[in-house]
Amino acid sequence: MTECLFCRIVTGEIPATVVHETDEVLAFRDIAPQAPTHLVVIPKAHHADAAALTAADPALAGRLLAAGAEVAASEGLADGYRFVVNTGADGGQTVFHVHLHVLGGRAMTWPPG
Ligand code: AMP
Ligand code: ZN
Repeated sequence: MTECLFCRIVTGEIPATVVHETDEVLAFRDIAPQAPTHLVVIPKAHHADAAALTAADPALAGRLLAAGAEVAASEGLADGYRFVVNTGADGGQTVFHVHLHVLGGRAMTWPPG
């Protein structure tokens, strides 16, 4: 049994509010939303972070971005949104299964701090 939280969401062992699913990606609502709309988009295949994913399967990284844009549109984020990929400890990554945050529904500030 895997220890990885997001792999366990992929198998259904841990419940999530799924908004989009294909054979290779899954999008669900973040449990601690940082914006009115906060989705997490993951490849179903386990890759620890953005560097590992892009090294192993750059085309899948592209399809992850495409899925993010698709769910942003389906959530009605017509005024824009923010993609975030936290990477490593200093990047604020806490779950080491690569994921794309999609944040929107309000004007996002910059710099993020
Ligand atoms: P990061 O800090 O970039 O690694 O992001 C991990 C994200 O996963 C955080 O925004 C958490 O709120 C979110 N998260 C943790 N556990 C769950 C869960 N069971 N369902 C949905 N989102 C989760
Ligand atoms: Zn995983």
